[in-house]
Amino acid sequence: MMESPKWRPSRGLPENPHPARQSGVRRKGEKVPTDPMSWGARLGLEEGLGRLAWTAASSNSVTVITELKMGLARFPWRVRKTLLQAAWHYLRGHEVLPYLPIRLWVEPTSYCNLRCVMCPQSFPREHAKGYMDWGLFRKVIDEAAEFVYDINLHHTGESTLHKRLPDMIAYARQAGIYTRLHSNGTLLREDLAHALIDAGLDLLSFSFDGFDKETYESIRVNARFEKTLANIIRFLEIKKARGSKKPYTILEVIHLNEKLSPTSPQRYEFERRFEGLPLDEFIIKEPHNWAGSYDQSGYAVGHVFTPCTFPWYALVIHWDGRVAPCPQDFYCDLQVGHVREQTLRAIWNGEPMQRLRRAMRLRDCSKVVPCRDCDMIRRRAVLGVPTPYLKVFLKETVLGYSGQ
Ligand code: SF4
Repeated sequence: MMESPKWRPSRGLPENPHPARQSGVRRKGEKVPTDPMSWGARLGLEEGLGRLAWTAASSNSVTVITELKMGLARFPWRVRKTLLQAAWHYLRGHEVLPYLPIRLWVEPTSYCNLRCVMCPQSFPREHAKGYMDWGLFRKVIDEAAEFVYDINLHHTGESTLHKRLPDMIAYARQAGIYTRLHSNGTLLREDLAHALIDAGLDLLSFSFDGFDKETYESIRVNARFEKTLANIIRFLEIKKARGSKKPYTILEVIHLNEKLSPTSPQRYEFERRFEGLPLDEFIIKEPHNWAGSYDQSGYAVGHVFTPCTFPWYALVIHWDGRVAPCPQDFYCDLQVGHVREQTLRAIWNGEPMQRLRRAMRLRDCSKVVPCRDCDMIRRRAVLGVPTPYLKVFLKETVLGYSGQ
């Protein structure tokens, strides 16, 4: 048997290395600003971006800036303006925002056919299961079309289980919204592959954690290595035969153990399986701890609290209409509204969202479940912007559309 992945039930984050910063209490001799985000308020945006460039360059991340410049130019002016507004209001820690979210996660279903070891689907805690109905989906898209740039059509479940997934993609595309889908690929039959391309899907990312059968099947429980791989290869062959540039296709591996490291010799052997096929990108990414639901050692430990960026640019709509502020909150513990009763506009600046932004600004999430145990607020940051977010956002969102 192969070694099992290095995941284990969470006991919460390690003790905060800077308790004064989280609690707002200054320890003797320690300089802690009264408003942790006030440095952002003191900087003009231009100077802020200048400092971002300098800091990124000095931390050997100059590609971030290049990507930022190249990437922003691809957006329509409306989106560019909102991105800059989001950056500005995030840095200033504003609670009421004069713009609306530019990205949504909309969950077609919370059911999943797999029980992957790092996913809360396989944890003992239950969560509500169901399929989003067509009327609710249309209500969300009809409102979102006025301000949202793109939607992720996935969240806690496997979206290809929803019979109307291609209709959802086509409806969102007709509304002028870019569509992104993350799938385990196990249910991707030929007819569905054609339907996704016909619907105009912009980006498709496959989760495939394993360069060999043993690793893959020990992580992606209930999936079969050969079958899933055959589905993905067949999808790429169809895309090639149709001469379609879309969807921009990514194969994503989570770095869960040494066998899945970016330098693993098996990786190159595995990548050769896709030679000559229109796979646009191969990503090996670091895991996160599902807002404290699982402990993954090492990645976030020891970094200073950095306010989470999600409450400044995104919302997540669960299958039944509950709204959360981020995609790490698997169980919707942070529920900030309900789209059956409220508009997205009302939810965006409603009291729960303001309260969450305030907690981030004050760097005190000690009473906020699940943020208090989430590793997203303990990651390396540049000028107050968490670099993993920035890099992933620019690479996947902005450059990810370069294949269009
Ligand atoms: S800190 Fe974590 S749980 Fe809280 S909003 Fe951010 S990503 Fe979500």
